[in-house]
Amino acid sequence: MNADRPKKKKIVKTIQIDLDKCNGCRACEMACSTFHARPRYASNNPARSRVRVLFDPMRDLYVPVYAGDYAPAECCGRDRYTIEGKTYDECGFCRASCPSRDLFKEPDSGLPLKCDMCQEDPELKEPMCVQWCITDALTYVEREEEVDEEQAAPPEELELGLEALADKFGLEKIAEAVARLAAARKG
Ligand code: SF4
Ligand code: SF4
Repeated sequence: MNADRPKKKKIVKTIQIDLDKCNGCRACEMACSTFHARPRYASNNPARSRVRVLFDPMRDLYVPVYAGDYAPAECCGRDRYTIEGKTYDECGFCRASCPSRDLFKEPDSGLPLKCDMCQEDPELKEPMCVQWCITDALTYVEREEEVDEEQAAPPEELELGLEALADKFGLEKIAEAVARLAAARKG
């Protein structure tokens, strides 16, 4: 970071996860999927949730994992975790929506899902998954950081979806499809 560049304050939103308190109820998955349903609250499908709870039956362990960035290609190197003697799947704790698995993809369209911290206007007092986690395994924490004023804003959900579609079909086909749709709607 360049110390001479103008700075601004930024609020970093964090969800702290306490695995000792998670009982695997999956209320967080339900709350997320129904909050992001269109129309809102019209459906409830954990496959559309931006947080998924992984389960290890041998150790009675539940691990909530949040959907992170969209990755257009599989990664070349992978991490394998061994925790208390048990080795977990190479992609087990990864947050990416990537081509190598179905996790964090909208089930009907295949478009990537990413946790947006329930961004709303007006803002929610806490993200929905935190509000519905009655064991307090999830805790919402905000902290303030100084960042470069010119730091780019993260892409919006629409841009992420378009990027994934462009990777899959190419920009030209998307433009043609949009033109067809627009013409059909005009009637
Ligand atoms: S709502 Fe809380 S306790 Fe239930 S699965 Fe999600 S994180 Fe775990
Ligand atoms: S913060 Fe909001 S968008 Fe992110 S997983 Fe929780 S409910 Fe879903």
